[in-house]
Amino acid sequence: MKNKRALYKLTHGMYVLSTNGGACFVDAVCQISGGDNPLVSVAVMKKNYTNEVMHKENKFALSIFGKDDNAELIKNYGLQSMRDVDKFKSSPNEIEMIEGVPVIKGTIGYLVLEKVDTIENDTHTLFIGRVIEADKLKDSEPMTYGYYQDHKDELMKVKTETGKTAWVCMVCGYVYYGEELPDDFTCPICGVGKEMFEKRV
Ligand code: FE
Repeated sequence: MKNKRALYKLTHGMYVLSTNGGACFVDAVCQISGGDNPLVSVAVMKKNYTNEVMHKENKFALSIFGKDDNAELIKNYGLQSMRDVDKFKSSPNEIEMIEGVPVIKGTIGYLVLEKVDTIENDTHTLFIGRVIEADKLKDSEPMTYGYYQDHKDELMKVKTETGKTAWVCMVCGYVYYGEELPDDFTCPICGVGKEMFEKRV
């Protein structure tokens, strides 16, 4: 592929996906039907703990992340696993139970959905939900995944130690130290391969 980063120009947003017992950041969210209770799909990596939990739960929520929302939310929900930490306990924003689902407070708005279908592909599960509740909480601008990619260093305050060769994951900000990345290296946080790492010296 000439430049896989063309995919960042697809206008995905940034969302916290939450359900009872799991939560993570997602970008591949899409409304796929209309009407009073439209269908929305969300793709979740199979290796994510939240994917496992989503298979068991029948409701989930999507909180819409904005450009002026707290970037600590990305670290809390995007860069660690519920296998290791209870993200709801460490959440910088409060959690509110809505329709029996934990929803992150203080974002632009949220959707609560009832799961109606799942489709498996090689790396992700597509969860399809019907919107049963929604609210818009403020008028600020949603963050696109492309914006996040372009501003990741400042948003995540990615800092590398001086005097060491570092490789920074362009998806999640994980830093690997070493002269060379092994060819089969995959990011321990988000699972992308070597081609998504940028060298910093
Ligand atoms: Fe990563």
